Amino acid sequence: MSFMKRHRCYDAVPTSCKLIMFDTRLHVKQAFFALVANGLRAAPLWDSSSQRFVGMLTITDFINILHCYYKSPMVQMYELESHRIETWRDVYLQCWNHFLISISPEASLFDAIYSLLKHKIHRLPVIDPVSGNVLHILTHKRILKFLHIFWRKIPKPTFVGKQIHELGIGTFRNIATVQQTATLYEALSIFVERRVSALPVVDGNGKVVSLYSRFDVINLAAQKTYNNLDVTMQEAICGRVCFVEGVIKCYPDETLETIIDRIVEAEVHRLVLVDRTNAVKGIISLSDLLQAMVLAPAGIDALLS
Ligand code: ADP
Ligand code: ADP
Ligand code: AMP
Repeated sequence: MSFMKRHRCYDAVPTSCKLIMFDTRLHVKQAFFALVANGLRAAPLWDSSSQRFVGMLTITDFINILHCYYKSPMVQMYELESHRIETWRDVYLQCWNHFLISISPEASLFDAIYSLLKHKIHRLPVIDPVSGNVLHILTHKRILKFLHIFWRKIPKPTFVGKQIHELGIGTFRNIATVQQTATLYEALSIFVERRVSALPVVDGNGKVVSLYSRFDVINLAAQKTYNNLDVTMQEAICGRVCFVEGVIKCYPDETLETIIDRIVEAEVHRLVLVDRTNAVKGIISLSDLLQAMVLAPAGIDALLS
């Protein structure tokens, strides 16, 4: 906690990084193609009439558009062709963030973590208050990696040596999963309804066979296959071009320290908690780890909705 209070967002900003911004008059389809072409996951949105940033465009927005307008492989999604970011936001913002959530480079990483978790977002632009420029887009991954670089040099809380089942860090009930025989559209519906960032994919016996995250949906834009969401999850998983081999898992008797090392090393947003038969028992995401290690010692529970 004190490490995060002592370091500023600026400290976690890389010396160089790629960043794109979209004018809200851009067509949504072009915007998602531009994200793919640049290998990015999100972009701040600029409203040229008010001359300010008004929000973010992320893969979650792509999921929401597909889920909203998809009917069948035989029916083209005209709205995906015709919507500009601003017209889509008029439809969608009735139920979501109306403004850009950002942070100053001088704010502490503690504040950045609090903002990410409290607003339940995964992208936090660091904006220079003087120039108004976006310096970087902070994520849980970047923050935990930053902490991990100093890991050997800072005093660690004693509980990192404890087993995860003793600590109760993560979600263990009502885990959103998807059957490998379900359709991709069903998986998108779960993303929309449960607002989870990833789904363990399970077989008929409830054993985890794969993991499908919101990020993986970008493959549909990359391969222009979004017109058929009736494919099975098995097919969708095999069709991914950029993915992590196997499922990155953990077991209840592993220590928090082992789990942190594994999640940082694998560069994934969560581990799937399984028992020795591979049945899904929980999810331990970067949000859970940052909540437990940084916010909980300050008496804050930002994950409580
Ligand atoms: P993803 O996991 O796909 O990157 P997020 O969880 O960050 O997406 O985004 C969830 C929703 O919140 C999306 O509609 C996105 O546009 C919006 N959003 C994300 N970050 C911000 C932000 N910093 N300010 C305002 N809205 C945001
Ligand atoms: P983001 O950087 O947007 O948070 P994610 O970490 O959710 O992205 O996903 C990046 C890639 O890693 C995706 O292809 C996803 O399927 C994969 N992935 C994420 N978590 C796991 C996991 N626990 N096991 C296997 N693959 C994973
Ligand atoms: P995330 O969006 O992954 O940062 O996680 C936010 C919260 O949702 C954390 O408490 C996670 O443990 C939980 N969570 C993530 N994925 C799932 C899932 N598939 N089912 C249930 N809870 C989840």
